[in-house]
Amino acid sequence: RPGKPIEEVKRELGLEEVVKLASNENPLGPSPKATAALRKLDQWHLYPEGSSYELRQALGKKLGVDPDSIIVGCGSSEVIQMLSLALLGTGDEVIIPVPTFPRYEPLARLMGAHPVKVPLKDYRIDVEAVARALSPRTKLVYLCNPNNPTGTIVTREEVEWFLEKAGEGILTVLDEAYCEYVTSPAYPDGLDFLRRGYNVVVLRTFSKIYGLAGLRIGYGVAPKELVAELHRVREPFNVSSAAQVAALAALEDEEFVALSRRVNEEGKHFLYRELEKRGIAYVPTEANFLLFDAGRDEREVFRRMLRQGVIIRGGMGYPTHLRVTIGTLEQNRRFLEALDKALELKGV
Ligand code: PLP
Repeated sequence: RPGKPIEEVKRELGLEEVVKLASNENPLGPSPKATAALRKLDQWHLYPEGSSYELRQALGKKLGVDPDSIIVGCGSSEVIQMLSLALLGTGDEVIIPVPTFPRYEPLARLMGAHPVKVPLKDYRIDVEAVARALSPRTKLVYLCNPNNPTGTIVTREEVEWFLEKAGEGILTVLDEAYCEYVTSPAYPDGLDFLRRGYNVVVLRTFSKIYGLAGLRIGYGVAPKELVAELHRVREPFNVSSAAQVAALAALEDEEFVALSRRVNEEGKHFLYRELEKRGIAYVPTEANFLLFDAGRDEREVFRRMLRQGVIIRGGMGYPTHLRVTIGTLEQNRRFLEALDKALELKGV
């Protein structure tokens, strides 16, 4: 169901200003290098380069992989769609730990495949339970790492153990949309598994730490034969020239990435402390969002926050939990103020 634009929400609720902490975008805005590159763009009467050639060369160099093992999409969401279109058919099974990023399931169903849902354990993907769900019909396995909405990771050892169990015939998708925010030394670089010959696709995006969500650009890295299959279902001009140019510049913007990481770390620890003061339980996160337990119906909390102009995300698979994107200090303060009112904790 299509949502409403923020301006419409503001008008309906009579709000002057809205703080959107609902989709894990970068609160600092876009990479300044990307913005500068966009300003120079002047050839948009021409179709874009179909396979995002230059960006793939730059990514290949940066990541130490063959550019032909990279496919660029209109967001990494489109790569998830391409995987479904290219690989799935009626009767296939797709293993999906739940809750997780909500696009995997409908795109599996679209192709008549059957989602096999495996509950998380203590907010973490339970690789042993995922392995138990493997069957001769399993085609794809999604491991979102860090997992959205819980922010937890699966470790290098866990992923390797699972890939050994899954064997060569099953493709595992390592969705690393938030990898740049991770601080845990136990976190694996999915590309290492690819280099070592495991049957994996690594998904990354420019929507989060690079701040380009509105331009729609992300990518997958996979064995070359699989990438060739994905190109068969790719729209010829799936990524705009604006997105390609901005992503190319953002990739070099190490300063902005470092700043975004630092602001996220500070915001995360600020929110941890403030939630602890209020006795609100949360799941320690490796990403740029935080899942917390409001202790009451998440739908009601969502509505009460919205009325105050703070949009966070409920409906995350837990009856009393909500997910908030870690914002700037000011946004985090606004979130806490609204939360206090929503939970009637004004005295804190
Ligand atoms: N994967 C995960 C885990 C996400 O949380 C998101 C977006 O929120 C995406 C993929 C899709 O990102 P995009 O299509 O903007 O690259």
